[in-house]
Amino acid sequence: MINFTVLTIFPTMFSLLWDYGIIKRAIDRNIISASTINIRDFAEGRHRVTDDRPYGGGCGMVMKPEPLAGAIRAAQKKAPSSKTILMTPQGRVFDQRVAHELASFDGLILICGRYEGVDERVCYDLIDDEISIGDYVLTGGELPAMVIIDAVTRLIPDALGGVDSAEKDSFSDGLLEHPHYTRPRIFEEANVPDVLLSGNHKEIEKWRLEQSLINTFLKRRTLLEKRTLSRQEVDILEKWCLEIEKIIHS
Ligand code: SAM
Repeated sequence: MINFTVLTIFPTMFSLLWDYGIIKRAIDRNIISASTINIRDFAEGRHRVTDDRPYGGGCGMVMKPEPLAGAIRAAQKKAPSSKTILMTPQGRVFDQRVAHELASFDGLILICGRYEGVDERVCYDLIDDEISIGDYVLTGGELPAMVIIDAVTRLIPDALGGVDSAEKDSFSDGLLEHPHYTRPRIFEEANVPDVLLSGNHKEIEKWRLEQSLINTFLKRRTLLEKRTLSRQEVDILEKWCLEIEKIIHS
């Protein structure tokens, strides 16, 4: 069970995430628990302001430290063994390896920035980690938090209703996954590969590994370059090299 707590000024954005598909099922089955804390509830004054102008001038607004600190402390009090993570384009980049790492925690407190970001002093003691979902800048941390919740949830064995699906996904063993096919058998004159209809599970597994290697070579070669290849993988790639040589020299 992982407990997700999201700190945001737009909590209703998350009702869409909680209410559909695998995430909803995981909540219903107590595989995860998920809640939001509205940062605005920790802001003072009649207008509960959460942002202010930047010291030193410049455009944009900055998220004030007091409401954020109040919200973080409340979340940490409720879920003391959680890891507290700030969503920021300046953080370490999220990938499947980081998803696995985060899936090992009891809880994640995800802080969503807005405007130009958060007052730096919030990061001094209250944050354990900073994560970016990629080298681009979004208007807020809500989508990054949703990406993390989604990717981490599907790694919890029971969340997908079968461990297999997550284990065989792209990146889980450093390769992209093989292609998938479903009915009909012929779609606009394109056939499903014969081996998948053969019922020969050994041959199907071999074909899938081969396709996975070729997919990775064609689409994300650097993944293959970083990989320590097994004997079977070397054999498959050598067979492809021979086939290509035959074509070149024919
Ligand atoms: N001025 C900031 C900078 O240049 O680093 C960017 C602020 S961004 C407009 C507002 C908020 O969106 C950030 O505080 C962060 O929470 C979130 N955000 C934007 N892009 C992100 C990314 N790639 N990964 C994670 N969070 C992101």
